[in-house]
Amino acid sequence: MDPSSRPPVPPRALALSIGALVVPVVAVALFPDWTSTDAGMLIWLTALIPAFLLSYYRGLRGVAVALSGGMAVITATQLSIVLFDIAEPNWTLLAAIVVTYLAIAIGISALSELLRRERQAAEDLAMVDKLTGLPNRRHVEGVLEREFAAARRGRGLTVVMFDLDHFKSVNDRFGHVKGDLVLREFAEVLRQSTRKENLSGRFGGEEFISILRDSDPVGARIYTQRVLDALANRALPTGQQTASAGIAHYEKAMRSWEVLVDHADRALYVAKNGGRNAMADAPPYTDAG
Ligand code: GH3
Ligand code: MG
Ligand code: MG
Repeated sequence: MDPSSRPPVPPRALALSIGALVVPVVAVALFPDWTSTDAGMLIWLTALIPAFLLSYYRGLRGVAVALSGGMAVITATQLSIVLFDIAEPNWTLLAAIVVTYLAIAIGISALSELLRRERQAAEDLAMVDKLTGLPNRRHVEGVLEREFAAARRGRGLTVVMFDLDHFKSVNDRFGHVKGDLVLREFAEVLRQSTRKENLSGRFGGEEFISILRDSDPVGARIYTQRVLDALANRALPTGQQTASAGIAHYEKAMRSWEVLVDHADRALYVAKNGGRNAMADAPPYTDAG
């Protein structure tokens, strides 16, 4: 996963981790006899603290760092007390502690990974429209914000706002369940027509939006007409369904993506007033709208 999506390790947690490794080392140095006894050796379990902390902040990688750090400190300390003839550790107990240490650290990392995946799945779900499976408004707004910033730096940006025609009467005549089916069918049309580098999502009830990168006016019109035709030619249990569309391009004078979307909305209403099953380009933008 992208490490930038994890919280940074706060200095306090780092200090605590290092402290947790220093404690047994200092204890061994000051009380070599006591730390070689059965009870005294348990002080090495404080070396588990970094594994807990770093697994939270850095997942598997954090546990790996904590494990190697912990093992290095344990090994170096025990080797030096033997080499300098300070004390004779209980090797069996030490081995048991090391195994416990490994088992707990690996357990924590597995749990932390599981939680991270669940959180990621929940976050993904929060970006998807339940009915149509398209990106939802929250997702669309995030993309608009990013693409608007890119447009400011010189990349092209076009938005197309779609709205189903006389959709209220579809619900009135056939019921909401059939209405929902029409929405899903239109979503399918958008999915099939939208290129990978672009994005189509559900903006509101029966309003959909396409965000086109680098699209020239001619390309945007071709795309929009293709979507409108695909919908109008789709066999639906509610009869022919059409939509109208408004196209707006990024212009330097626009101060936010909301302005761009509002501009596409105005074009959409021009298309509606022109008789529906049609598209309209927004006029050049002026600050007055
Ligand atoms: P126009 O051609 O001017 O757009 O007319 P319209 O009837 O499509 O416009 P209007 O905004 O009056 O109606 C939108 C309808 O969309 C009303 C609402 O019941 C319906 N709608 C919104 N969300 C859903 C949904 O999730 N499922 C269903 N079945 N209908 C929805
Ligand atoms: Mg509407
Ligand atoms: Mg409508």
